[in-house]
Amino acid sequence: MPQYNPPLRDIQFVLHELLNADKALADLPAYTEVDKDTINQIIEEAGKFASEVAFPLNQIGDQEGCTRHADGSVTTPTGFKEAYQQYVAGGWPALTCDPAFGGQGLPVLLNTVLYETLNSANQSWTMYPGLSHGAYDCLHAHGTDIQKKLYLEKLVSGQWTGTMCLTEPHCGTDLGLLQTKAEPLADGTYSITGTKIFISSGDHDLAQNIIHLVLARLPDSPKGSKGISLFTVPKYQVHADGSMGKANAVTCGSLEHKMGIHGNATCVMNFDGAIGTLVGEPHKGLNAMFVMMNAARLGVGMQSLGLTEVAYQNSAAYAKERLQMRSLAGAKAPEKVADPIIVHPDVRRMLLTQRAYAEGARAFAYWVALMIDTELNHPDEKVRSDTADMVTLLTPVVKAFLTDNAFTATNEGLQVFGGHGYIAEWGMEQYVRDARINMIYEGTNTIQSLDLLGRKVLGDMGKKLTKFGKIIEAFIEEEGVRKEMQEFIDPLADIATKVEKLTKEIGMKAMMNHEEVGAAAVPYLRTVGHLIYAYLFARMAKIALANKKSDDPFYQAKLATARFYFDKLLPETAMLIRQARAGSKSLMAMPAELF
Ligand SMILES: Cc1cc2nc3c(=O)[nH]c(=O)nc-3n(C[C@H](O)[C@H](O)[C@H](O)COP(=O)(O)OP(=O)(O)OC[C@H]3O[C@@H](n4cnc5c(N)ncnc54)[C@H](O)[C@@H]3O)c2cc1C
Repeated sequence: MPQYNPPLRDIQFVLHELLNADKALADLPAYTEVDKDTINQIIEEAGKFASEVAFPLNQIGDQEGCTRHADGSVTTPTGFKEAYQQYVAGGWPALTCDPAFGGQGLPVLLNTVLYETLNSANQSWTMYPGLSHGAYDCLHAHGTDIQKKLYLEKLVSGQWTGTMCLTEPHCGTDLGLLQTKAEPLADGTYSITGTKIFISSGDHDLAQNIIHLVLARLPDSPKGSKGISLFTVPKYQVHADGSMGKANAVTCGSLEHKMGIHGNATCVMNFDGAIGTLVGEPHKGLNAMFVMMNAARLGVGMQSLGLTEVAYQNSAAYAKERLQMRSLAGAKAPEKVADPIIVHPDVRRMLLTQRAYAEGARAFAYWVALMIDTELNHPDEKVRSDTADMVTLLTPVVKAFLTDNAFTATNEGLQVFGGHGYIAEWGMEQYVRDARINMIYEGTNTIQSLDLLGRKVLGDMGKKLTKFGKIIEAFIEEEGVRKEMQEFIDPLADIATKVEKLTKEIGMKAMMNHEEVGAAAVPYLRTVGHLIYAYLFARMAKIALANKKSDDPFYQAKLATARFYFDKLLPETAMLIRQARAGSKSLMAMPAELF
């Protein structure tokens, strides 16, 4: 049986020592009351819910999966419904929602911590409230007053849940191809017809009603992505007074049988003239949906941080217990039949890789979450817009870098268990299977890389990247003079210079041939991911060095992880940069018919 202990010490380190979250939040009028004690209390409770309620259902969910019944209704695995009821009773769905709709009005940062722990505990279960929160965000930003009145309180309380319905059989990445139709009706509503596939949490038994956010085309719509509109389609129609009416014409046609996240219902959803209402302006649906998609991209990053952490915890515990072979340096536990495998250098590499990816991801994701709070709430317009630029730039990196790393980390976690990792009962193979989808949905990692390099870096002539570079430059200047920081600052400065050079080089090549962007994007995003981790690990090392005389072994461990990161993981960038520079020629040389 796997185990999970919420990593409260490291969470608190990132919040209080790295980000000084309470001070940063004090600058935001909405959060002046959010002090350290409040933060600590909430994250402890979040960790308790995750480890005591959601975690025990993780393997059950994987084994049982969801069930579709003859009438099209779907039930979730044993215990999922009761856990959801507890979640709702605890007020968790409302944590960071607008008080005007019954929310508790706390910072996004705290939801990010909550979602890390929930995803470590049970990614499949967490997707039900996770998607609802995305639907809340989207309707809060773009819904009409009536939609807000009808839906937001119910989503905030958790009585109802939400979904995002984009994908169709012939249209995934290229949403411009979508065909679902929306016909205007005399009363101002729309009749929605079409088939959506792969819809997470599309139907289930956790809540009374489900509000589907559906992309569809109006009859006069322009072709391509400029002609897509967004609609709310409730599972049960909702009367003007907010009460639930008859079933809408939207049903789950089937459940997908899939590699992982078995506890989450991935549905084919049939819309047969279902009644919907327009969200935002006609043909501007993608803009509105982007609110949900961006939230979901950070959410997928948190899924991956969660899995990285839990895989690490279990493989570290196993490596201390499992006895095989002797240390190359001579027996470390001569009283035992063999040494624990943690003595072996390569087992340590696997453990430290997971640990560094977990700690790097936590620092990065929480930092971005705090930026979102700043972007939404800072009184100074210039600070808000500068921070918004950073969030825009970094979102695809959170999505792709964290999810790629989580697949590596869960895989290394499994490998630490040897053959036992491949056996279901230990739980490690489930983490690998669950982690795999995160690289695909919410826009594949290739698409995130193209978004970063093509749109966010080259698309604005490097302005956002330069702003980000200045944050790193300031830190290098400040710390570069300190001898004990040199082991971190030198490689950080080196990778920062290389990213700048690489960006210019690809930009020049791209002017002659657009395929150069496609050829370089994936290694480019990973390189930028490493630049960010190098910066954050250097900052964390600085704090650890300042506390080196402390009795708390936490700082010693932090320093050791940072050193491992710089020695063993950052050097991957040498290869990545070569790959990015190698360009498109060898990729495009082979005629398609010869594949
Ligand atoms: C379990 C699961 C849950 C999901 N949940 C939801 C959900 O809740 N709502 C929803 O709407 N969708 C959902 N999806 C769909 C998911 O978002 C899509 O699968 C994903 O966006 C990719 O689309 P596709 O599968 O059609 O792949 P395609 O778009 O066909 O892509 C195939 C491959 O081609 C690559 N590719 C495509 N275009 C380019 C390009 N221009 N340059 C380089 N490479 C390219 C892709 O990266 C990919 O590797 C889910 C999918 C799964 C499997």
